[in-house]
Amino acid sequence: MEIFDRMQDLRYGALHLHTDEATGLRAVVAVHNTRLGPGIGGCRCIPYATSDAAITDAMRLARGMSYKAAISGLPHGGAKAVIMLDADREYDRTALFEAYGRFVDQIGGAYITCEDSGTSTSDMDIVATQTRHVLGTSAGSGDPSPYTALGVRRGIEAAVKFQLGRDDLDGLHVAVQGVGHVGYYLVKELHALGARITVADINADNVQRCIDDFGVNAVPTSGILSLECDVLAPCALGAVFDDDSIPALNTKIIAGAANNVLAEDRHGVELFKRGILYAPDYAINAGGLINVAIEYSPDGYDAGRATEQVTGLYDAMWGIFERAKAEDTPTHIIADRIVEERIFG
Ligand code: NAD
Repeated sequence: MEIFDRMQDLRYGALHLHTDEATGLRAVVAVHNTRLGPGIGGCRCIPYATSDAAITDAMRLARGMSYKAAISGLPHGGAKAVIMLDADREYDRTALFEAYGRFVDQIGGAYITCEDSGTSTSDMDIVATQTRHVLGTSAGSGDPSPYTALGVRRGIEAAVKFQLGRDDLDGLHVAVQGVGHVGYYLVKELHALGARITVADINADNVQRCIDDFGVNAVPTSGILSLECDVLAPCALGAVFDDDSIPALNTKIIAGAANNVLAEDRHGVELFKRGILYAPDYAINAGGLINVAIEYSPDGYDAGRATEQVTGLYDAMWGIFERAKAEDTPTHIIADRIVEERIFG
């Protein structure tokens, strides 16, 4: 598809491209929508097969950030950056991120950068020498994973109340797929509330850490999605709910941190038909974004305010569940509807 057609199709926005001969920087900043405020989104720094693949990735991810910010009620739009690395070239990383910082600065505040795959806090510290439109520096809000996990826990509580009529998680069985950064903190939160937890991970050390710290049960990765449980929390990868996995599900609720868990939109409809309450991924996993957005607020970062706002994800999730019930419509469609009303009017 032609680039302008693609932009119109995704209801863009602006697309910025930049090269810097001295450092070898080749970067894309996609600003999807700024109606609610400047777009916050991470910067990916990885090799891509083609420039087109890099641009497409930035555009797709930026749109996702618009949706995540809008559903959380944040005064922010969505944007994302990609630095396209040449796998055969040696980079001076400091010079590369200084050049990237100047590029971000030229955009003039419509885009606020932070870390993502292939970038780190120390890269953002370099960016901060060139622009103030950067978050996630070493002086900033730190690891987002505990906040993402807190938000997921609050979303699970809302789903449990809505679907099962229960005010607590005591004794409920939660199956967690993937106990890396977010999954580990989620298990910690759930354990503190008395849930019975089963985990699975391809990384045996990560599983063992949860057994040692919280006494959880573990099953092979092949068995976690079909395990009989009250809540299934996907916290590993995308596209886990498809034509093969859905018929085998044995849960009443799906609520986890992983992005893009529905292989296709129609799989959300399939969950709805089966009476499984699905907490839309970009809504329930917004805790990390809420945390980093506080760093940008005029008063600066405050961990107490971050915890308070992320705790409020219970209400955002409840609102989605209630409207889905009232309109007899799958939750993922309702979440998109709420976002589109907010950002496109
Ligand atoms: P992570 O890489 O730290 O953890 C992922 C875990 O999943 C790892 O332990 C990995 O071994 C495991 N895993 C991979 N494939 C698996 C499989 N087939 N079965 C079981 N386990 C498997 O990542 P993370 O930061 O914890 O993020 C987890 C998910 O949540 C990702 O989809 C991410 O995009 C999403 N997310 C994360 C954040 C955040 O704050 N980190 C915010 C929003 C969304």
